[in-house]
Amino acid sequence: MSVSVAIVGSGPAGFYTAATLLKAAQTYDIDIIERLPSPYGLVRYGVAPDHQTTKKICKVFARTAEQDPVRYYGNVNVGVDITIDELRNVYDAVVIAIGAPNDREWPVSGSCKRGVLGATSFVGWYNGHPDFQDLEFDLDVSTVAVIGNGNVAIDVARVLVKTRNEMIESDLPDYASKAIHNSRLDTVQVFGRRGPIEASFTNVELREMGQLEDCFPVVDGNQIPERVLGEMSERDYRLKERNLATLKEFSLLKYSTLSKRVQFQFFSLPREILGGDRVEGLRLERTVISNNQVEGTKQYFDIECGLIIYALGNRGAPLSGVPYDKKSSMIKNLDGRVSKGLYGVGWAARNPVGVISTNRQDAMRVCGHIQSDIQVGEKPGRSTLEKILCGRNVRWITFDQWKQVDDAEVVSATHGAPRRKFLRLEDIQSIL
Ligand SMILES: Cc1cc2nc3c(=O)[nH]c(=O)nc-3n(C[C@H](O)[C@H](O)[C@H](O)COP(=O)(O)OP(=O)(O)OC[C@H]3O[C@@H](n4cnc5c(N)ncnc54)[C@H](O)[C@@H]3O)c2cc1C
Repeated sequence: MSVSVAIVGSGPAGFYTAATLLKAAQTYDIDIIERLPSPYGLVRYGVAPDHQTTKKICKVFARTAEQDPVRYYGNVNVGVDITIDELRNVYDAVVIAIGAPNDREWPVSGSCKRGVLGATSFVGWYNGHPDFQDLEFDLDVSTVAVIGNGNVAIDVARVLVKTRNEMIESDLPDYASKAIHNSRLDTVQVFGRRGPIEASFTNVELREMGQLEDCFPVVDGNQIPERVLGEMSERDYRLKERNLATLKEFSLLKYSTLSKRVQFQFFSLPREILGGDRVEGLRLERTVISNNQVEGTKQYFDIECGLIIYALGNRGAPLSGVPYDKKSSMIKNLDGRVSKGLYGVGWAARNPVGVISTNRQDAMRVCGHIQSDIQVGEKPGRSTLEKILCGRNVRWITFDQWKQVDDAEVVSATHGAPRRKFLRLEDIQSIL
């Protein structure tokens, strides 16, 4: 009898797990259970809408979903529609691949004011994520401050300053395009508490900021060290060298005709959000790096801004029935194994950093554990899952149904956009 496996979550980690199990000598029945109607996790709802090449990985995931042993159950919220304990009773193995859906906390004075958003919600908003498409905030401001020095901070800044024309081949939802392109925004300030060497931008993303139609990057040349210092791998050294060269180039640019700017300010630690009940500005302290630690210099400066978006990384969320370590915000696991029959992959089970393909390594490790832990299938798997869901009136979306939605999204696109996302469950159900 095939070994039955339930994968909870249909992001990259979930799909890489399914694909790896399909290659094993043992036969598996693999059910991918997803809270949202649509699959692909952050590839659909995190990767920036103008980076469509990255999103093409969905085609590979779709081929996995179409394999005979695999079934997709969209619109099934594990923990609400069915519990982990129930899944463990029904499946030989359960793999948790629910990602890390929260923002890392930002403990700065005033962060509860209106106009302070975590990148998770802002990115979800511009990607049409069902949880965030109704997010309320005022984008009609002249300056936005972005806190953080990673690729998500760059994504946020870039999406804010690209022209309508530059976004034409993206899947930015209409409501987001309207809010962004009708805004009077002309300045995005990107702040990092450390320096350019410590920034974790990748060079392609950083360079793109110098190639925009109506926006130029501003960098203070005095903040750019002459060379890369510190201990690091050869690969990191080369990346940092390229970043320093790019930032140096930016610092020498003199544009006068472009109407927007993105200013990178390093060695700047946010201390207080200014304003009444809504954001009016930000107070920062200049820093120095000493023994790899950030030290304040007691030199403060203020900027005016109407919106602050912090992009400081992601944090996991507990799921009832799965041991969870509050401190690290991760599922408690040893190299992906929680206990025999229960496993964790991707951002739910490790420090949530890295690129899409990083999740493949997790999947390979966990599939190795499953193969050594379980050789014979003993539990019924999908037939019982479907009975439970039917009994609770849970209407799941199959992969064939998702493909109809996918096709309809592609057909609805205009002006060279790859798709026009259906945003509401009702819209999706009307297609079906
Ligand atoms: C803003 C942003 C931009 C990024 N851009 C890039 C990029 O350009 N290139 C790149 O290589 N990497 C990028 N990454 C990293 C990449 O997205 C991650 O490595 C990857 O998505 C992590 O995969 P995952 O499967 O662990 O989590 P996720 O992709 O988050 O998938 C988790 C899935 O689980 C589902 N789920 C959650 N709870 C439940 C539940 N209770 N029941 C059922 N399902 C549930 C979620 O709905 C989601 O579909 C980006 C990350 C972020 C945050």
